[in-house]
Amino acid sequence: MPELPEVEVTRRGLAPRLVGRVISAVAVHEPRLRWPVSQDVHRLAGRTVRAVRRRGKYLLVDCGDGHLILHLGMSGSLRVVPQGTPAGKHDHFDLLLGDRMLRLRDPRRFGAVLWTTQRVEAHPLLAHLGVEPLSRALDPARLHALARPHRTSIKQFLMDARRIVGVGNIYANEALFRAGIHPRTPANRISLEKSRKLAVAIKHILRAAIRAGGSSLRDFVGADGSPGYFQSRYWVYDREGKPCHRCRTKIRRIVQGQRSTYFCPRCQR
Ligand SMILES: [Zn+2]
Repeated sequence: MPELPEVEVTRRGLAPRLVGRVISAVAVHEPRLRWPVSQDVHRLAGRTVRAVRRRGKYLLVDCGDGHLILHLGMSGSLRVVPQGTPAGKHDHFDLLLGDRMLRLRDPRRFGAVLWTTQRVEAHPLLAHLGVEPLSRALDPARLHALARPHRTSIKQFLMDARRIVGVGNIYANEALFRAGIHPRTPANRISLEKSRKLAVAIKHILRAAIRAGGSSLRDFVGADGSPGYFQSRYWVYDREGKPCHRCRTKIRRIVQGQRSTYFCPRCQR
């Protein structure tokens, strides 16, 4: 599933190829995505792409008086291809921009293509999203204050997009290892000092993943078509029974909220 780093890598790949270009037409090959593709996307024709932004795992194509909201779902990818490139079976949506097209491929069809002219931050899909982990807003004091009311495990807290967006399972595992925090620790027991380590770890890991071009989880292909290679660098994720890179203790796996958690019982107490 594309995570925040993959979406950010996609955004960075797309922005220079789209910004300033006029949308000549829209082609919907399959409207049945997670939600039906907005009927009014055809109104995009004639508009100019002003910016490509990201909020959580949503890509926002800013057209001045409205936004195209894109989500990659479980298996989606976006690519810029030459105008006229035939659509394959899983290519559901094209945004035509003169000599090129922005194409959404999404085999499992959990992605989204929506058009809104309301204030995009207030859109029902975006209004309840938590803090952006890479923004200055997520500092130690904010993280500490966010976690304080919650008795749930810190691992599950980190993955709750209503608190912090975009810290998926892999990155939650890796950040907790870096911060030396046991994944079962109740969120409200994380000290300010540990919050500082955790905030630094989250940002470090997401930035490293973005630099690496995003994790190459099976379905993701970057905007330029190249797979990422972050996966070879995991400290704990998917390493059950293997020795910790730091202390050689065997990595353990537990299940929290139906998701696998990997941790080093010695480095994370
Ligand atoms: Zn260890």
